[in-house]
Amino acid sequence: MGLLEGKKGLILGVANNKSIAWSIARELHKEGAELAFSYAGERLEERVRILAGSIGAGLLIPCDVTRDEDIDSLFGKIREEWGALDILVHSIAFANKDELKGAFVDTTRQGFALAMDVSAYSLIAMARGAYPLMESNGGKIITMTYLGGRKVIPNYNVMGVAKAGLEASVKYLAADLGPKGINVNAVSAGPIKTLAAMGISGFKEILGHIQDRSPLKRNITAEEVAKTALYLLSDLSSGVTGETIYVDAGYNIIGM
Ligand code: NAD
Repeated sequence: MGLLEGKKGLILGVANNKSIAWSIARELHKEGAELAFSYAGERLEERVRILAGSIGAGLLIPCDVTRDEDIDSLFGKIREEWGALDILVHSIAFANKDELKGAFVDTTRQGFALAMDVSAYSLIAMARGAYPLMESNGGKIITMTYLGGRKVIPNYNVMGVAKAGLEASVKYLAADLGPKGINVNAVSAGPIKTLAAMGISGFKEILGHIQDRSPLKRNITAEEVAKTALYLLSDLSSGVTGETIYVDAGYNIIGM
């Protein structure tokens, strides 16, 4: 029997087959979870539909996380179809390309607000939508973060500030939702070539740097991130909440 047999999970953040959220979805599916997907805008619908169909998932719901009405209708639909939810995977971030290069001191008010809204606030809004559906059986929520939220990474700029906010939100949400039997954690992934990552200026150099300097002397794969996500979304991690777990070939421990 799979680790997630009988569990229902909502996956936010699949854009294509390179998305970290997609690797997580496949891992959860292998362990028996039934999955629903949200997608950001009509442009992505067909691609997400094909991917979801390949693992037998038919529940697809549009949701732009900057729109409260989309979030309300997403959880309304989940309640209508499933009545309850066990797992929420939040794998969403966005910043304007102009903010992901040059000097951080040039961050605009609007660029800051957008990056924070999509990449950090959306976890809070999603957790608020999810917890009433998780209260009866408990639940597991994870989000995706990056070292740039704790240390300065060239060009990561405002996204680093958003990830710092996201990681702090994980702790506050874990404290709020713990008494309801809900665990909230983050996975801090090393760099992986995805659509979002390609928006960061100099991304390829970061990959080379990790290969040279990390203890494992290589980059990590989305599948490795997905296996840690599985741990955090299964009973194996029942006593873990409010944590950020690194899956980065050990790079974050290096001082010099
Ligand atoms: P991706 O581009 O495949 O995924 C990003 C997702 O965010 C996309 O599905 C996109 O549709 C969604 N999104 C953006 N704006 C949205 C909005 N307004 N409403 C709803 N959805 C929206 O890239 P990815 O690398 O898989 O990114 C997933 C998460 O992993 C992000 O939080 C990212 O910061 C994080 N992460 C990525 C890396 C990496 O190197 N790829 C490393 C650490 C953390």
